[in-house]
Amino acid sequence: MNRISWDQYFMAQSHLLALRSTCNRLAVGATIVRDNRIIAGGYNGSIAGGTHCIDDGCYVIDNHCVRTIHAEMNAIIQCAKFGVPTANAEIYVTHFPCLQCCKSIIQAGIQAVYYAEDYKNHPYAIELFEQAGVKMEKVKMIQPIDVYGKQKQDFVHSLLQQLEATGVDQEELSKLQQKAYQLFND
Ligand SMILES: [Zn+2]
Ligand SMILES: [Zn+2]
Repeated sequence: MNRISWDQYFMAQSHLLALRSTCNRLAVGATIVRDNRIIAGGYNGSIAGGTHCIDDGCYVIDNHCVRTIHAEMNAIIQCAKFGVPTANAEIYVTHFPCLQCCKSIIQAGIQAVYYAEDYKNHPYAIELFEQAGVKMEKVKMIQPIDVYGKQKQDFVHSLLQQLEATGVDQEELSKLQQKAYQLFND
């Protein structure tokens, strides 16, 4: 059994949060972590109870959707709302933070930014992170999290065994076995 790393676990959480995004422009998720515990999460979306971009279209000014609060900001604000300290925390984001979020991350005392995708990485954001001693590290999602992975693997395995019992062409069978192996072991 493969145990996933903390990095993969927190990044998976951010990808999951991104699926809750309500803006058509970009689906972003952010997870704030302290001592390997998730303390807050956010995705880019409207204020609570507000109109959603996915329902009414984006509200674009100067090529930016002004309706949404970014995922990182939502996660930090959640900490403010419930009185959870962010000093020395870490943040896992699906995309490299924008300049505004970068400044808020630094000001919140967050020490490390782990991101899955480059996204218009602003040179000034990088400069500010460096000045503040905030670690930046790209963490790719290595494997999609599939909670039914084991069942699927067992099912395909049993199908291949049944196929073998029918006396199917050996060459064809080994091609299928190889494909199944690649699917479940990469
Ligand atoms: Zn929008
Ligand atoms: Zn942002």
